Amino acid sequence: MKEITGISASPGIVIGKVFYYIDDNITVPEYEIPQSEVEKEIERYKTAVGMAEQEILELKKNTSSNFVKEGRFLDSHILMLKDPDFSSKIVTGITEQKKNAEFILFKTARSYIKQFKAIDDPYLRERTVDIHDISRRVLNHLLYRERISLNDIQDEVILVTHNLMPSDAITMNKRMVKGIAMDAGGKTSHTAILARAFEIPAVLGLSDITSHVRSGDDVIIDGNSGKVIVQPDEKTRVQYEKILKEWQKKESELLTLNELPAETRDGKLIKLYANIEIAEETESAVVHGADGIGLYRSEFLMLEPGKYYSEDEQYSTYVSVLEEMGDKPVTIRTLDVGGDKFISEAGDLDEKNPLLGWRAIRYCLAHKDIFRIQIRALLRASAKGKLRIMFPMVSGVEEVDDLLEFLEEVKDELKEEGKNFDTNVPVGIMIEVPSAAVTTDILAGKVDFISIGTNDLIQYTTAVDRGNERVAYLYQPFHPAVLRLLRMIIDSAHAASIPVSMCGEMAGDPMAAVILLGLGLDGYSMSAFSIPEIKKIIRSTTMADAEEMVGTIMDMRSYKEIDKYVNKWMRGRFDFISL
Ligand code: PEP
Ligand code: MG
Repeated sequence: MKEITGISASPGIVIGKVFYYIDDNITVPEYEIPQSEVEKEIERYKTAVGMAEQEILELKKNTSSNFVKEGRFLDSHILMLKDPDFSSKIVTGITEQKKNAEFILFKTARSYIKQFKAIDDPYLRERTVDIHDISRRVLNHLLYRERISLNDIQDEVILVTHNLMPSDAITMNKRMVKGIAMDAGGKTSHTAILARAFEIPAVLGLSDITSHVRSGDDVIIDGNSGKVIVQPDEKTRVQYEKILKEWQKKESELLTLNELPAETRDGKLIKLYANIEIAEETESAVVHGADGIGLYRSEFLMLEPGKYYSEDEQYSTYVSVLEEMGDKPVTIRTLDVGGDKFISEAGDLDEKNPLLGWRAIRYCLAHKDIFRIQIRALLRASAKGKLRIMFPMVSGVEEVDDLLEFLEEVKDELKEEGKNFDTNVPVGIMIEVPSAAVTTDILAGKVDFISIGTNDLIQYTTAVDRGNERVAYLYQPFHPAVLRLLRMIIDSAHAASIPVSMCGEMAGDPMAAVILLGLGLDGYSMSAFSIPEIKKIIRSTTMADAEEMVGTIMDMRSYKEIDKYVNKWMRGRFDFISL
């Protein structure tokens, strides 16, 4: 039995069997081989090649007769696999460098790929994909690991991997993936957000969980405390079965609050909204008693490879969410592509600092063709319900002006075409860049509402990549700088008489709930299943208490001090808090 602690990214407890998924960031081991083992190592390589060949032949057999042409690439893979030049390079590499087969294969494939990439002929350049594919297939056999599409998973499994891209997570078979454990990732990485959206318990940032498991191992994922237990003994298993039952009981008790408002004991009414990534999550928002959708991350519509939604497809998706939410507001954020979210239409952006690069409205304003399609779909959908349009990643007033001008242009276009839309559709911006945060007073006068995106705001304020587990310890929502910015944003929005809510993960963090109340936040938007717990906290608090607590922590000098104080304050009052 081995217990590893990481970052609790999505709550819940699950016990199951490991499915080890190899992603492209696999770390290939490198070690010395004694002279006496060289022959054996070459044999090991040849056996893995034989297995890869069998696998390709099997794939070929199963390729439907309708796809004969498409299946031909498999023949070329077999030829490449047996290519004498490539094979002899591996054999020579192992013999001369006395290094393990995986490492030599990886290095050789990489140098082939580099050479092919430099060739001018597009056909030959494309062959790099084939070299990548076959070397990975052999590598998987050398490492005794499986790789299949996450969409094909047919049994209930716990997915263990080094790193999962949001595009992988969105395509995986969500019914069968019961838990996730990952070497990489932070609490606010998009994969963590998706795990919460799909209600899959997840522990991320485990550093090296992949070197402790094999497919088929028993494992416990405790998303509440951020622990993963590999091959648990009987006693631990029984103990976790009990914890799981208690947790489920507590969760169903919280659901009884659904019909009640999020109102403090001294009468302040707060709005609790749900964040959704795909339209299918709307049902969960309704089930958990959301007052509306506070953030619909529309870019997830485009993340599945090869899928780009037309205006009509987007329109009907938005309308389906509006209809399901009835008279409640639905805030749809325009495409926030870039960063760690790529759409195939955007091609390979290949930027050195994608999080500081061509992201969100920066990309959209430069690709008005793509942007226009979305704005048209949004405006048309606004005729069908309480739609609100929200722009992400705003960094200054010039961008807001450009966005509003473009919106007017598209409105005129629709008017000319005689299309229906809500001429007064509310328009808001996300505050997630420090330059926007400190100029909220300037921006607030131009829009109808503001929503604070703390996931990015904390990342950009503290210069900590939100998905990087190595610096996760520095990602601190209670950093005095973050709290001061929050106060500044909320006060500036109120001075301009517009409502301000928060849709970053901090809004669903029970430990932050009273602080946000005390700072004066009007609405919280979070994963749907967090709503009942936050509601219970709000219903058990008074504004006077919350303001007093904020008064105390605003004078503190470090997040450690604030963390300690808030933890004690919260735990002393609310025994039901889970994290
Ligand atoms: C945020 O940055 O807080 C946010 C809600 O947007 P996303 O997590 O999608 O970047
Ligand atoms: Mg963001």
